[in-house]
Amino acid sequence: MRVLITGGTGYIGSIAVEIMRTQGFEVSILDDCSTGHADTVPTGVRFVAGSLLERTDLDQALEGVDAVLHFAGKSLVGESVEKPELYQRINVDGTRNLLDAMKSANVMKIVFSSSAATYGEPTEVPIKESSATFPTNPYGATKLAIDHMITAESKSTDLAAVSLRYFNVAGALKTDRGWLAERHNPETHLIPNILRSTVDNPVHIFGTDWATPDGTCIRDYVHVVDLIDAHIKALETLTGTGHKIYNLGSGTGYSVRQVISAAEKATNQTVPTINSPRRAGDPAVLVADISLAKKYLQWEPSRDIEKMVADTLESIQ
Ligand code: UDP
Repeated sequence: MRVLITGGTGYIGSIAVEIMRTQGFEVSILDDCSTGHADTVPTGVRFVAGSLLERTDLDQALEGVDAVLHFAGKSLVGESVEKPELYQRINVDGTRNLLDAMKSANVMKIVFSSSAATYGEPTEVPIKESSATFPTNPYGATKLAIDHMITAESKSTDLAAVSLRYFNVAGALKTDRGWLAERHNPETHLIPNILRSTVDNPVHIFGTDWATPDGTCIRDYVHVVDLIDAHIKALETLTGTGHKIYNLGSGTGYSVRQVISAAEKATNQTVPTINSPRRAGDPAVLVADISLAKKYLQWEPSRDIEKMVADTLESIQ
């Protein structure tokens, strides 16, 4: 089976490429490398250095493909508040183009990287897939718009689709080519920022006055290797038609301060921090109810926050 991995040079996509290859899938990659890194592409893997916005790139990338894992897109909450039109164009218009090209190429299976940001400030915790969706930032709004687009597409065509709503993805994967890990520039994610924090450049704690026990935001962290495992299981469920949506997290929340404590234990050093204002677009608490993924994907995450911190630490050393 050949799988097209859009965004296959990014943090999550490159780890998907590696794991899928080692499990015997044939892999093609489409990525414009705007945030990814071409040096992650393994030798022998078909790689189209192109864009979701270019139909010819999509047509080329879809050659001989049976299913698509769609990771490509812009994914930073803060940036999306500043540049909503960029998020609309790449995420929503890009996915529209991808679905059109898939239909022409008769590729009717997709697993889409959706997000917990679709829920916004949750009306219930843990968050279920049936919970209300009121995104608090343009990033989440684009992911929700795509989920709706895929639902409509699956009703009007033979598309079989799964959206996986990621909570906070963390950790890294060691390969015989070295570590595949987060290499964002600038890095905005909490765990790498904590582990790179120095006295001269302390990690900012975005908001200490949230309505949470220690005043900092609570998130649900899932190891990237567990996350890819869920994608492979989702792919295996794409036999008929229709669109299913599953949350992917651990089911447990950690505050920013708790993640800092886990890092301090792993490094045996104090993490330099600075209390900072809230970041635009952040909800206070995001914790997943993962019972649907457990039930229908037969999936269960097995790597805890300590493993996520330890792998990230090793990857940057
Ligand atoms: N955060 C923080 N300092 C940082 C990066 C993130 O306090 O340098 C907080 C952020 O406000 C959020 C949580 O850590 O509450 C996780 O943020 P991240 O950017 O890692 O992921 P997101 O939740 O935006 O997907």
